Amino acid sequence: LLRADGSVASTIFAEMTALAAATGAINLGQGFPDEDGPVEVLEAAREAISRGANQYPPGLGVLELREAISEHQRRFYGLEVDPATEVIVTAGATEALAAALLALVDGPEDEVVVFEPFYDSYAACVALSGATLRTVPLRWPQFQPDLDELAAVVNDRTRIILVNDPHNPTGAVFGREVLEQIVRLAERHDAVILTDEVYEHLTFGVPHTPIATLPGAWERTLTISSGGKTFRTTGWKIGWITGPARLLTAVLTVKQYLTYTNGAPLQPAIAVGLRLPDAFFTGIADDMRIKRDILGTGLRAAGLAVSEPEGSYFTVADAASLGATEADAFCRGPLAEAGVVGIPVTAFVTPERRAEYATLIRFAACKRVEVLEEAATRLASLA
Ligand code: PMP
Ligand code: GLN
Repeated sequence: LLRADGSVASTIFAEMTALAAATGAINLGQGFPDEDGPVEVLEAAREAISRGANQYPPGLGVLELREAISEHQRRFYGLEVDPATEVIVTAGATEALAAALLALVDGPEDEVVVFEPFYDSYAACVALSGATLRTVPLRWPQFQPDLDELAAVVNDRTRIILVNDPHNPTGAVFGREVLEQIVRLAERHDAVILTDEVYEHLTFGVPHTPIATLPGAWERTLTISSGGKTFRTTGWKIGWITGPARLLTAVLTVKQYLTYTNGAPLQPAIAVGLRLPDAFFTGIADDMRIKRDILGTGLRAAGLAVSEPEGSYFTVADAASLGATEADAFCRGPLAEAGVVGIPVTAFVTPERRAEYATLIRFAACKRVEVLEEAATRLASLA
């Protein structure tokens, strides 16, 4: 992570956002919404600041939020989660991932299985933990893992199977048989399932099935989510992790020395969000589906082949049809010149597998309709 000359490599998100700012291109790179979240949530944060919720909250998170998370798990998934012992509030999903990995693995003999391409912090945190990264490819255009390939990678050294469903960067939503295979393999090899479900409310015509709801899964599963995507508050960094107390105690041990706590007035505001009526949650999925379709239509009209994402903020397109041989160069060259920024999928894979993903680009659809329409107009100049 640290370069030989002591400099630190910047994340692809920071780099591409800077490229958009420098060129005036529309930023469909970094996944953040360009509209504020629900007024009830924003107002609740202002109110919390006014009433003085400005000092350290409890290490586990404010009770009100832990209770709201528990109610949310019951309302949407029928899961019973004890707010006293089975929930920890974290500084975003990012801290939850880091704390869980640092807590549950020890060194190079421990293996963490990750689906590839992966959100960039996964490989970085596995590296920080000292464990060995093993990957299972998700292949264009469906991006579902091959069940036999998965079985071949999981073994008795596997400590964690790291799942991300709905998936960033591909937009895939794992099928039931995939989730069942993960649980079966985790049971067989006594591994922990660590599942990042930050896009849980953004699926399009398919249900989201938390892996923790499958038979046999709860006792070995840690589930991560965040208010960032659901409430369009990515800068607030209020996340959480739920699961059996036995595993959460280990996570808390690490978490208390990472940030201890964060976001005192934002925590009760996210609790208000989690208690919004069902219509809010179906509304954000419907809205994101419309945006996905506008983006997909624009990309196809520009001559790119496009995946059919069933969830998340993201769509993957193949620029090979436009003569691209290397997505990174294409993103920094012709695509940025056309006035749109996307992220090469090669930023999310291990060096050994770069060639398989060489011409794929991730685009974020979480922007206003008029912004996506303008992006489509600019993309048309590529055709
Ligand atoms: N996991 C995934 C899959 C994500 O896409 C993101 C944010 N882009 C995160 C984790 C980080 O979430 P947070 O901002 O809550 O730390
Ligand atoms: N999670 C967002 C994405 O995938 C951004 C994360 C970041 O900037 N680190 O685009």
